[in-house]
Amino acid sequence: MTGGRTTISTEVDVAIIGAGIVGLAIASEIARLKMGVFAFEKNHSFGLETSSRNSEVIHSGIYYPTDSLKARLCIEGKGLLYELCEQRGISYKKLGKIIVATEEDEVKQLEKLSQQGKKNGVEDLIFLSSTELKKLEPKIEGRAGLLSPSTGIIDSHSLLKFYYNHAHERGVKFVFNSEVTGIEKMGTKYKVQIRDREGISTFVACTVINAAGLNSDQIARMSGINIAQAGYQLHYCKGEYFGLSSKWKNIISRLVYPTPEQAGLGIHLTLTLDGKVRLGPNARYVETIDYEVDDSQKGVFYQAARKFLPYIEFEDLEPEFAGIRPKLQAPGEAFRDFVIAHEYRVGFPGLINLIGIESPGLTASPAIARYVAKMVVELFN
Ligand SMILES: Cc1cc2nc3c(=O)[nH]c(=O)nc-3n(C[C@H](O)[C@H](O)[C@H](O)COP(=O)(O)OP(=O)(O)OC[C@H]3O[C@@H](n4cnc5c(N)ncnc54)[C@H](O)[C@@H]3O)c2cc1C
Repeated sequence: MTGGRTTISTEVDVAIIGAGIVGLAIASEIARLKMGVFAFEKNHSFGLETSSRNSEVIHSGIYYPTDSLKARLCIEGKGLLYELCEQRGISYKKLGKIIVATEEDEVKQLEKLSQQGKKNGVEDLIFLSSTELKKLEPKIEGRAGLLSPSTGIIDSHSLLKFYYNHAHERGVKFVFNSEVTGIEKMGTKYKVQIRDREGISTFVACTVINAAGLNSDQIARMSGINIAQAGYQLHYCKGEYFGLSSKWKNIISRLVYPTPEQAGLGIHLTLTLDGKVRLGPNARYVETIDYEVDDSQKGVFYQAARKFLPYIEFEDLEPEFAGIRPKLQAPGEAFRDFVIAHEYRVGFPGLINLIGIESPGLTASPAIARYVAKMVVELFN
């Protein structure tokens, strides 16, 4: 899948940096514009980082502040994803999720969440008493629950593959094993420096779309943006998962979440499409990117899950995998929204940065793609 070597004479309309779910969704969306689009990816294939290390949940859009990009693009993306799955045969299940209050003060938090969801346009939330909760999920304990019927799970690998094939078949050139190592503004265009196995080469692009996930702040810095001033500095926040033994398979029918904590949604219970149960992710700020699961976290997972899953045993938990959130907020800081910015205001017309695309980035991907495609259309008109 590696593209051929290209020299400095190559000029493209759009260079996308990063072939995760966001870069691929954008490539798939702008492919219809019939422009010369190249996508550069440092790995040997697409979707090998955060986009294949997540819960694969189609979020409903409850938690985020009203009118934030996270809320708007999540809700729009949810609708588009369900449609896409139906049309393109991508596996999914709209199985619903229950947020569980295990303490009295958490019941009030559920009420607030319900109001927040409604303000965001999530109209179908249902409050559950402890009896109703028990009836729906006999293995789950709680004082009350909030049922979100529109939450689901998706085969994210099939979604990645769909976006890739769709873009590729419509002429987007994917260049793998190619790391962007420099971006220089050249009049109204950008010189993009690539390092691959054969050395360094250079492209000229009219528009650069930075969808580099965990490196997106560094790509912004390379292009000349003062990332400290812009508030673009990323912080890595690791999320680990533990799988539950096969005796738990197909025993629980919905996703089960605790009432949320600050950095993540709280260690929750997700299901795979074949009914396997998984706990996670936790949320730990880290300095470096490594995807090892720290076995010593098992006790924390066990204690967190026991609150709503009283029959769980310590031996049921097995370390599975980890992903890393590209967070704009440092530990303890308040909510930060996705950054999706055309940087003409700071002197970089044609540069579009996507930074801090953490959850619900998978759910929002088709809506993010439409949002960015509008920017691209404006640029070329
Ligand atoms: C633990 C966890 C759980 C999550 N759960 C969910 C969920 O259930 N539902 C949901 O909606 N969202 C979820 N998310 C969020 C979702 O996974 C992300 O928002 C999404 O995957 C981000 O995609 P991306 O394309 O921006 O990033 P990535 O997938 O990281 O892609 C970026 C790409 O850029 C490439 N790249 C980086 N630097 C360079 C360079 N210099 N040159 C060339 N290529 C480069 C990388 O190799 C990578 O392939 C979760 C995230 C985490 C971490």
